[in-house]
Amino acid sequence: TEEYLRKPEWLKIKLNTNDSYKGLKKMMREKNLHTVCEEAKCPNIHECWAERKTATFMILGDVCTRACRFCAVKTGLPNELDWGEPERVAESVEQMGLKHVVITAVARDDLKDGGAAVFAETVRAVRRRNPYCTIEVLPSDMMGRAENLEILMEARPNILNHNIETVKRLTPRVRARATYERTLTFLQRSKEIHPDIPTKSSLMIGLGETKEEIIETMDDLRAHDVDIMTIGQYLQPTKKHLKVQKYYTPEEFAELKEIAMEKGFSHCESGPLVRSSYHADEQVNEAQVH
Ligand code: SF4
Ligand code: SF4
Repeated sequence: TEEYLRKPEWLKIKLNTNDSYKGLKKMMREKNLHTVCEEAKCPNIHECWAERKTATFMILGDVCTRACRFCAVKTGLPNELDWGEPERVAESVEQMGLKHVVITAVARDDLKDGGAAVFAETVRAVRRRNPYCTIEVLPSDMMGRAENLEILMEARPNILNHNIETVKRLTPRVRARATYERTLTFLQRSKEIHPDIPTKSSLMIGLGETKEEIIETMDDLRAHDVDIMTIGQYLQPTKKHLKVQKYYTPEEFAELKEIAMEKGFSHCESGPLVRSSYHADEQVNEAQVH
């Protein structure tokens, strides 16, 4: 029989579903938009949407060409490119009154530019309508092609976020189509093109990594000039996904944050419910002053 670890108390929280949340959900359906906040059933949704005025949009459709083993996004043949999407995202950012928006996308390995042109246009459309909203992009590696990253970075987002996801040893098992090295190169290349745009990366823990491996990942990110790091607990989205090997305690997360800050990151969020985009509004401010 398969054994599952029991979820600790600090991870049991209720989703808040009040009226303004329902209205926003309805708007997303009407505009045919997708948010990671909803798709991943993120427990922070009330805090982010209502209080912090931040959200994470997932563009280029809701079907991914990859099938990473921690991720709940559907795998398959993606939808046709939707050039109306950038403007609809921009309108929603305006309606929600967002101060910070994260724009991510499924991996479009079916497109030569990996979706970079629509992605860049989304950044521009959001900025045109929302000049005071800071914009963080969280692209896939866009097949590791430097020219795709350049297309996106020309739109000048406020933060380039690209996730390392897991430690080196576990990468082939966790996300077969990406590589640890390619992720690091991607982050460094962004810095080379636009040294003034801070870079950020997230690590999920609880997949069987050791503490030494977590620290090695911090060193690798710093060696590639990454400014901001987030560390969160991996949670299994369905029984078909990788099992949780360990639930870290809030104290262990706090210790990891301390280690990260000693390594020289300008900002580190580390906690059981921390997601790539959690408290992103604070990071942009700190990142800009450093
Ligand atoms: Fe959305 Fe990220 Fe906030 Fe979760 S942490 S609700 S995914 S913005
Ligand atoms: Fe999920 Fe991104 Fe992997 Fe696609 S590439 S399966 S969206 S983590």
